[in-house]
Amino acid sequence: MKTIDDFNFADKKALLRVDFNVPLNNDHEVTDATRIEAAKPTIIKILEDGGAAILMSHLGRPKAQESEFSLKHIKEKVSEVLGVEVKFVSDCVGDEAEKAAKDLKSGEVLLLENLRYHKEEEKGDKDFAKKLSNLADIYVNDAFGTAHRAHASTTVVAQFFPEKKCFGYLIAQEIESLDKVMHSDKKPVLAILGGAKVSSKITVIKNILDKVDDLIIGGGMAYTFIKAQGGNIGSSICEDDLQDLALDILKQAKEKNVNIHLPVDVIAADAFSEFANTQVEDIYKIADGWQGLDAGPKSLEHFAEVVKKSKTILWNGPLGVFEIEPFSNGTIKLGEAIAEATSDGAYSLVGGGDSVAAVKEFGFDDKVSYVSTGGGAMLEMLEGKTLPGIAAIQD
Ligand code: AMP
Repeated sequence: MKTIDDFNFADKKALLRVDFNVPLNNDHEVTDATRIEAAKPTIIKILEDGGAAILMSHLGRPKAQESEFSLKHIKEKVSEVLGVEVKFVSDCVGDEAEKAAKDLKSGEVLLLENLRYHKEEEKGDKDFAKKLSNLADIYVNDAFGTAHRAHASTTVVAQFFPEKKCFGYLIAQEIESLDKVMHSDKKPVLAILGGAKVSSKITVIKNILDKVDDLIIGGGMAYTFIKAQGGNIGSSICEDDLQDLALDILKQAKEKNVNIHLPVDVIAADAFSEFANTQVEDIYKIADGWQGLDAGPKSLEHFAEVVKKSKTILWNGPLGVFEIEPFSNGTIKLGEAIAEATSDGAYSLVGGGDSVAAVKEFGFDDKVSYVSTGGGAMLEMLEGKTLPGIAAIQD
């Protein structure tokens, strides 16, 4: 894997794909600079080598060239985070961009206008990618959040830098952290899959059955498995057409010596609401009209035991409807157990979608080993897919 550490950027210009798709408020101010901060080490390395950095990113989903999606709004924030006054050019390709890139000196940073102002970006257009490549000597991809998209700036542009392309620190870290889980010799290895639906995680489940010793299936996903085994799940969320698949997964797990842990009890509610009446119920005997919205106390005790004996832990998806306070306890208790296991020496990775929001909301983000920055990208890696943005650097 070629990373930014394999290059010296002295007197070179780096074309750096970052993910600066940050949230803005109505005054166009950046409300969360996490993604800018995540790219900082890569940018600083280029500058400290004596190079110049040309930053390109998308922001939102512009249909035309609406001003609200202009990257000019984030220029000041990027300057503040980097501690370097960033220059800005109002198009990412063409004469103006080429002149700005040419005039850029060592130690300087240039931010290009939104890539998605050009339809060619998402189409992966080769001519557009060629124009981007004209701006620099070396291509660096550090935009993990878009690495699963075969866009011009994330994938196609790499072919114009056959020997001069590499990953930035952020993507390198994401790849390494996933590798630590998927090819771990720190056993037992545990995966915890939660979230709403089996259908969105089938490929992940199938892929990780070969990699783990234990698999906790929680959240809304669990009810399809319970119903398939003859349980009464009341009006809990269920994908009836996936019951056979659920039974097949349980069979495969047995053949592969993977211990599957399903909840045994739930917090059942008489409505999907903060104000619902709730009671603890056996997950196989949920009363008609009631739905399971969180894991119950016995399940949580058992899950915590499994977590604490594990040496490698992957967590994707909440154990309940954590956005509604009365049903957040399971996700919080699981986060606490993972934090404890991590402080006892386990390696823990949280990634792919809502579990990242949950660990941030409940303050576990600095108590686990690594929190992935890319929802969809991480999910596709867990499915065993090679992401186009990663393949383009590796080939
Ligand atoms: P995902 O994006 O697949 O990780 O799913 C996350 C969503 O699953 C969150 O919005 C949770 O509220 C939801 N969820 C978790 N447990 C349940 C449940 N028992 N019933 C309904 N939704 C759930």
